[in-house]
Amino acid sequence: MTARALLQLKGFSVSYGPVEAVHQVDLTVNEGEIVTVIGPNGAGKSTLLNAAMGLLPSRGELRFEGAPVPRPSVEAMVAHGVGLVPEKRELFGEMSVQDNLLLGGFARWRRGQRDQAERMQEVFALFPRLQERSAQLAATLSGGERQMLAIGRALMARPRLLMLDEPSLGLAPLIVREVLKIVASLRGMGVSVLLVEQNARAALQVADRGYVLEMGAIALSGPARSLMSDRRVIETYLGAG
Ligand code: ATP
Repeated sequence: MTARALLQLKGFSVSYGPVEAVHQVDLTVNEGEIVTVIGPNGAGKSTLLNAAMGLLPSRGELRFEGAPVPRPSVEAMVAHGVGLVPEKRELFGEMSVQDNLLLGGFARWRRGQRDQAERMQEVFALFPRLQERSAQLAATLSGGERQMLAIGRALMARPRLLMLDEPSLGLAPLIVREVLKIVASLRGMGVSVLLVEQNARAALQVADRGYVLEMGAIALSGPARSLMSDRRVIETYLGAG
């Protein structure tokens, strides 16, 4: 079976004023794939994701399902079925878990309450802990629960491609594994994933393919398993063990 490209970036560059933070990146996420972008602090990972979501202006080519998206905007990307879980989670702290989820489904509001209820049941099936805490204020959740809510909220829009910015940030190793395992299971729901991570080991363990971003450019790419056994990746990103 030939893989169908969902998101394709070609010669994709992003600048902050005169400073180019992402240089000529070529990257593809195929349907059904979990793809990760790893790299050190300041490599441009968040910049790449935010520009692919249309939050920052970019140069170069962005295609979705083969069709060019000339000037990617958030509206265009959402309409194509792309969702983003930002690094800072951006939850509404003074609102309940349930209300945060409902806001995530806002773009599908016209489909009615039944659609919303079905989406929420799907999210609760993935994250039973959110169901137990549906009336709790988001600000009072633990770090792991907050990350689950941020992912759940993005899933309420039923994205075809979910982009996650450092979901492991600030979480204990056990919770990181739990969250990433759930991320990997999204494939079964027809959601492809672009996962940006500093935690290279955890990310490569769940991904099909990976890209190493260094100083804004792709330094290396390939199947996640090959990257995990690459000497340079081991020395620079995986450390001992
Ligand atoms: P981290 O893992 O620390 O979040 P990152 O790989 O996501 O790092 P970015 O946050 O994308 O990296 O930053 C890439 C480069 O762009 C850095 O040199 C950063 O200082 C710069 N940068 C990021 N945001 C801005 C901004 N709003 N204005 C100017 N420069 C910025």
